[in-house]
Amino acid sequence: MPATTQLLLVACASQAALTVGFAPQRLLAQRGPLPVGVSSVAPRDIVGIEPAPYTDAVSAANPLHVVVAGAGVGGLALANAFVGQPHVKVTVLEKTSKFKRFGGPIQLASNAMQVLRTMDPAMFGSIEAKATFTGNLKNGIKDGIRDEWYAMFDLKTPAEERGMPYTCVVERPDLQEILLNRLPEGVVQNAAGVASYAQDADGPVTVTLEDGFKVTADVLIGADGIWSSVRSTMHANPLRGDESGATYSGYTVYAGELNYAAPDNGEVGYKVYIGPGQYFVITDIGKGRYQWYAFLAKPVGSALADEALKPTEACADGTAAGNPAYLKTVFNGWSPDIMAILLATRNDEVEQRDLYDRPPALRKPWTDGKVALLGDAIHAMMPNLGQGGCQAIEDAMVLAEELGGLEKRSGAPAALQRYKDRRLVRSAAVQGLSRFASDIIIRGFDTPAKVVDGQFQNFNYAGIVTRVLQPILPVFFTVQFAFLYTGWKNELGVKDTANGAALLGLGSLVLVAFAAVAADAGLLLAFGLESAASVVEAVGGSGAAEFFQSVLPSVDGML
Ligand SMILES: Cc1cc2nc3c(=O)[nH]c(=O)nc-3n(C[C@H](O)[C@H](O)[C@H](O)COP(=O)(O)OP(=O)(O)OC[C@H]3O[C@@H](n4cnc5c(N)ncnc54)[C@H](O)[C@@H]3O)c2cc1C
Repeated sequence: MPATTQLLLVACASQAALTVGFAPQRLLAQRGPLPVGVSSVAPRDIVGIEPAPYTDAVSAANPLHVVVAGAGVGGLALANAFVGQPHVKVTVLEKTSKFKRFGGPIQLASNAMQVLRTMDPAMFGSIEAKATFTGNLKNGIKDGIRDEWYAMFDLKTPAEERGMPYTCVVERPDLQEILLNRLPEGVVQNAAGVASYAQDADGPVTVTLEDGFKVTADVLIGADGIWSSVRSTMHANPLRGDESGATYSGYTVYAGELNYAAPDNGEVGYKVYIGPGQYFVITDIGKGRYQWYAFLAKPVGSALADEALKPTEACADGTAAGNPAYLKTVFNGWSPDIMAILLATRNDEVEQRDLYDRPPALRKPWTDGKVALLGDAIHAMMPNLGQGGCQAIEDAMVLAEELGGLEKRSGAPAALQRYKDRRLVRSAAVQGLSRFASDIIIRGFDTPAKVVDGQFQNFNYAGIVTRVLQPILPVFFTVQFAFLYTGWKNELGVKDTANGAALLGLGSLVLVAFAAVAADAGLLLAFGLESAASVVEAVGGSGAAEFFQSVLPSVDGML
């Protein structure tokens, strides 16, 4: 894979996959010309609706059967979006055998909260009741060494101006419980890992499960995360390994979650500490609990290979436990806030994971006839903007809008294409932004140059650029949040176009400034071109996007 593609384009390790609830259920009967739900290997019992003869017309008596692979954030949001739509029947096939309360908090930004409110105000109310709002607090970037505010990002004003809910944080298990509880019993089927699919032009999709069982569906949605089997079938790539299209991003993350008496509790929501070659995030997750992230540029697997990073305890889910003692060394000399929270953290409260990249699918298919991909399965992104799950929720809303109104089964491929057209560029732009944030913060930023008591501090190129960009970044953030919040409907309107163009202009400026700083200047430049291609395509200039795409190989060649 070209270096540019590896570096720029987005992705991340799939966040701890959300596992879903209920005792294993029997598969529901499906509709189609084949005897529905027929197994060619080991038949399972079928309960639920009686098979109906295949007809093109969709009706309440003969609804469109949508099968969703994966009950993570995206799959469950999609199933919920179909609740109350009599012409759609949904079944969610989840690989894991039972629900576990597992996984840390997830930030739901205003755009995702607005989508959830639009889907169902009652469901939104339940989420709101469990949420800790951070979007109305002080949030921003701090100089990690001097412990001074460097740039603020205002999440409150753009939300209020648009009448949107504030950004919040919710425990993942709480979110999945709310999403699961709204679904009729039997919709989610556990222990039903999808292995592959096949389809005829005029017939249903046949989904093969890992145990060989076959299920038929009118539409299959792959919401099965970064290591998606549905994507693997669609793109004819292996599930994992070099040929799978997923590569290590170059970054590893340590995450801690603990009870912590923060000195700025109730005042500050989210703090990003910048400095040379690494960064640290502290965020309030409510009820006296805090989460921190330490992002380090490290070779893949170093958390296990490096003696100093050896896990002291293993987690039940197979994730290696981190070692705060090591992190205390790495962040020695940084803000007392960082030291204090690291000292308060026990080893068993830390998880570590390597972050993987998957290129955005500007050129790879999102759909294949009656099959489409959603969430991390198609646009896994770096976690820096906290948008991976939010974008999966936006996918769900758009898919439900496009499929919900179908009157004929034969209209499904075109509906899925419309879904892709509405989501491709926005999600690729957010992927690009997330990757941009990782690369710039870790490789670009340094301690800002400053004169202290007549002494010049950090007057190297990186320090000066970090200082010069200080007044520009709040403008950049304003544009970024305008882009993220205004576009939640995915209508690609005039405002979205204007915000996308502004983002492209300002992003290019920041990029050019930092390209000279980073050791991998060419990679950053290439990254910028690829992101630019996404945004340009977002604003409708497909010719310009072609241009950006065509120069990428030359940039690769220069590296
Ligand atoms: C450290 C970190 C922090 C993050 N923080 C945030 C944040 O604050 N906000 C945010 O919005 N995003 C965040 N993300 C990203 C977010 O977690 C993902 O983008 C999101 O979970 C994607 O949802 P999904 O439904 O597409 O996939 P997943 O949540 O990965 O769900 C996939 C589901 O499919 C199941 N599955 C897998 N294979 C199969 C199969 N073959 N058949 C059937 N089922 C299968 C899995 O068990 C799982 O339940 C973060 C990511 C990381 C790594």
